[in-house]
Amino acid sequence: MRILISGASVAGPVLAYWLHRHGFTPTVVERAPAPRKTGGHAVDLFTPAMEIAERMGVLERVQAKATGTEHLTFHREGIARPVEVGIGRFLRSVSDRHAEIMRDDLAEILHDATRDDVEYVFGDSIASIAERDDGLDVAFDTGAPRRFDLVIGADGLHSNVRRLTFGEESRFTHWIGAYLAVLSMPNDLGLDGRMVTYSGPGRMAGVYGARHMDDARAVFLFRTDRPLDYHHRDTERQKDLLRQAFAEASPQVGRMLDELDRTPAFYFDSITQLRMDTWSRGRVTLAGDAGYGPGPAVGGGTSLAVVGAYVLAGELAAAGGDHTRAFPAYEREIGDYVRRSRAFALGAARGLIPGSHARLRILAAAARLVTVLPEGTVRALAKLNRSGVRLHDTVTLKDYRPEGPVRAQSR
Ligand SMILES: Cc1cc2nc3c(=O)[nH]c(=O)nc-3n(C[C@H](O)[C@H](O)[C@H](O)COP(=O)(O)OP(=O)(O)OC[C@H]3O[C@@H](n4cnc5c(N)ncnc54)[C@H](O)[C@@H]3O)c2cc1C
Repeated sequence: MRILISGASVAGPVLAYWLHRHGFTPTVVERAPAPRKTGGHAVDLFTPAMEIAERMGVLERVQAKATGTEHLTFHREGIARPVEVGIGRFLRSVSDRHAEIMRDDLAEILHDATRDDVEYVFGDSIASIAERDDGLDVAFDTGAPRRFDLVIGADGLHSNVRRLTFGEESRFTHWIGAYLAVLSMPNDLGLDGRMVTYSGPGRMAGVYGARHMDDARAVFLFRTDRPLDYHHRDTERQKDLLRQAFAEASPQVGRMLDELDRTPAFYFDSITQLRMDTWSRGRVTLAGDAGYGPGPAVGGGTSLAVVGAYVLAGELAAAGGDHTRAFPAYEREIGDYVRRSRAFALGAARGLIPGSHARLRILAAAARLVTVLPEGTVRALAKLNRSGVRLHDTVTLKDYRPEGPVRAQSR
């Protein structure tokens, strides 16, 4: 069976890997002209995604490229002394296995693990999909039309396959009251395994770096009462909105904002969550952020994307390629994880960007506690937490592995 996947970041290559291992023939089309190498942003792999990385034979490479962020220096506007936070021990308490890695490093590792067995087409995009009784006729922006048995959109929050199949994105995205920006800047502070954040009511700016990264990444999160008015291609307007949101913040944040005029990589988006009742129609389905992105930077979307891709491939294999059985089974299997990730993201957005000085004080007190308590106690407290802080570790993976040993894919 020939299966076309749109998107070669996280969900796409994981899906391609497992589809190939189950005996399908995947093709991945990616809009970017080459595998992404601009860095992107740090993402998290929690227990079930680490388990899948291990089953794919790429865990060692993932761990070698981990950012290793262990410490966080938490500054609050108007307060001289920062709080030093053991962020590594906190993350170990919410998940038994965790790695933070730059998204593009992860995408490169996943591409390397599949490139010999899977056809990749870079620099193209699906232009139209026409469903027939026995397959799909797919036209591309530049390549010749081709026929596939199934099409899977793994092309992110602003998915092209979703738009072509389900209609305009605004029908499914829910703004959760905040915005997110990331830029690349020189690592003047020599940050290695440390993140420094500056928080005020309704806004948080932070910068982090790692030894193997050439630059540092500045990240900005801020809340607004109503949606901002800008075009998604108008970066100058987005930069202005960012400057306004962080007006009169600390000089360190001003220094980060100065980089807006020079940065080679800038990202700005609303923090929106996708809410679809079903993400499959006919011979088309969605995986990762395209179908169930819980919200960038707040919902653990990367682990969800890895698990979703693994489960989709597994259910297709279990149903012998019959998508009418496999797609509903896939949605049932990860539905609960998706719903809980959305709920988690809403809470995380509120927690990470407190709206008042009083709430910032509470956050600082909690951060201090995480740092002074023994790690075992922090872990025990996390296990008692009923609001879902250990969300990912409650996911049980089905073993869809075909017979035979995993072929080591690491290069
Ligand atoms: C700033 C930021 C910070 C984040 N922080 C975290 C974090 O701390 N922890 C965490 O777990 N997650 C985080 N996330 C979310 C995480 O990046 C996503 O959940 C994850 O990357 C989802 O993977 P994906 O493969 O589904 O989609 P994506 O990684 O978005 O990849 C989609 C791919 O599709 C390609 N594509 C797009 N359009 C087309 C097209 N028309 N044709 C072909 N290809 C196309 C894109 O180029 C891209 O390669 C963050 C996201 C952002 C933006």
